[in-house]
Amino acid sequence: MDRKLKPETLMMSHGYKPQLSEGALKCPIFQTSTFVFKTAEEGKAFFEIAYGQREKKPSEEMGLIYSRLNNPDLEILENRLAVWDEAEDAAVFESGLAAITTVLFEFLEPGEFILQSAPVYGGTDHFIKHVLPKFNINYVEFTASDTKETILKRIEENKSLGRPGLIYIETPANPTNALIDIEMCREIADLFSTDEKKIPVAVDNTYLGPLWQHPLKLGADIVLYSATKYIGGHSDLIAGACLGSNEIISRIRTLRTFLGNMAGPWTGWLLMRSLETLKARMEIQAQNAVHVAKFLCDHPKVEKLYYLGSLPQNDPQYRIFKRQCLSPGAMLSFDISGNEKEAFIFLNNLKIIKLAVSLGGTESLAEHPATMTHVDVSEDEKQTMSITGKLIRLSVGVENYEDLIWDINQALDKV
Ligand SMILES: *Cc1c(COP(=O)(O)O)cnc(C)c1O
Repeated sequence: MDRKLKPETLMMSHGYKPQLSEGALKCPIFQTSTFVFKTAEEGKAFFEIAYGQREKKPSEEMGLIYSRLNNPDLEILENRLAVWDEAEDAAVFESGLAAITTVLFEFLEPGEFILQSAPVYGGTDHFIKHVLPKFNINYVEFTASDTKETILKRIEENKSLGRPGLIYIETPANPTNALIDIEMCREIADLFSTDEKKIPVAVDNTYLGPLWQHPLKLGADIVLYSATKYIGGHSDLIAGACLGSNEIISRIRTLRTFLGNMAGPWTGWLLMRSLETLKARMEIQAQNAVHVAKFLCDHPKVEKLYYLGSLPQNDPQYRIFKRQCLSPGAMLSFDISGNEKEAFIFLNNLKIIKLAVSLGGTESLAEHPATMTHVDVSEDEKQTMSITGKLIRLSVGVENYEDLIWDINQALDKV
């Protein structure tokens, strides 16, 4: 076929050959720990390649060995995931945090610091601040309001912490949708890269990816996902993924082999099911979010809306949005008039929208970042990042948007 198919078309078949599985239309679940070699010579050859003792010959097909190293459900899923970001390769993990921590361990060394945007996901934040320092890896933070100049100044001021080893950003940031300029991060990484070490830029793309933001095209080296969110999309699994060049993913996959934090075949199968409807789901969610945002922004009990679709055109964030995002997405937060008490009355009175953390699933969810997902963030930081008692985060699902607005309206009435 000489036609370049779109990702949503490829999700039905890419990488799967029915004739290798008794003609099964769907890729079966390869629930097996190990794979039988045809001959001892074949087993020997597979191990030589898997352990990097020699390069694969052009005519050779790498075979399956053991499900900690590779499994058809994971390999086909990885091929399909790579399509959306036009990445050379992908590696799937048992959670988003497993993908993130494996990348940080692989690309950072003692004596280096990680330059990270703030806020980042609570689990990531904990790992950077409480686990990496045990390995003599420090951190330097910046926020969406920092410019390239102020970030460079901060690196200079923190020279005693070591040299920058990796730039890690989450954009849009959870829960306020603050945007970090990916191209600017690339420029900073290049300033500190040497012949011995190219500083990688890693982007947690969970909020807008893989549909609406493609960090690899904007200069990032590594894209990370909590596949638990939009990619899984049904709130029924935990998984993660990492995407990038062949060189980067081969390093990540090697460390994954030894940490043993790959996803299992059942999770791989569920994610392939999810990818078939990824675009359809995310598009409906984003359309619903437009309606919900419009309702919230006109409501007298809503003080402020944090939604990428309502950034004013003179806001510097608007320029970043235009350059790097293809949609405002389906995550929004808002300040309710009042404080924690009013926020809790609202949350306790929702009838359709469920009170739960997580995001990106088919069902709409609401939560209170200051006391839930971001409870670990220091008081100071909460204030600077607008994570206060009145902030409520919504993940908009695929329900009928008029029903969702009805629900939000009646819960606001109770406040
Ligand atoms: C949920 C989430 C993670 C962590 O992923 P898990 O699958 O829960 O391990 C990381 N980053 C972001 C932005 C998330 O929303």
